[in-house]
Amino acid sequence: MEISEKSLIEQASANMQKAYAPYSGYKVGAALLATSGKVYDGANIEGMVYRATHAEKLALDSAVMSGERQFIAIAVVTNNQIPAFPCGQCLQDLAEFDKSEKGSLEIIAANPEGKIRKSTLGQLLPERFVIYDL
Ligand SMILES: [Zn+2]
Repeated sequence: MEISEKSLIEQASANMQKAYAPYSGYKVGAALLATSGKVYDGANIEGMVYRATHAEKLALDSAVMSGERQFIAIAVVTNNQIPAFPCGQCLQDLAEFDKSEKGSLEIIAANPEGKIRKSTLGQLLPERFVIYDL
């Protein structure tokens, strides 16, 4: 990866501070590294009508709007004692841009205490829905 794993986690951690989560109190920050070398930011944003944008989805949508289509890694930071990986819906959203059989997108979960868990899209969502012929 072009930028270090440490700096990707630090950026996700900084993004967690930008989360707007007055209802759940559960803040999430994400940093998505594209093959261009650029990093895209995300944080969860809740609304009073029980709607929430997940940090991973915001980072992904922002990247796609900037013309990105290929990604290397995403770091996600939460206050969980055991760092939390993205939810199933976000994994599926990420799979939209990683149609490789292996699902090689790196997924790094971390917390502010420095605990880190690492996996890949293919390991976390092995039977993800992909339409290969589009
Ligand atoms: Zn999610």
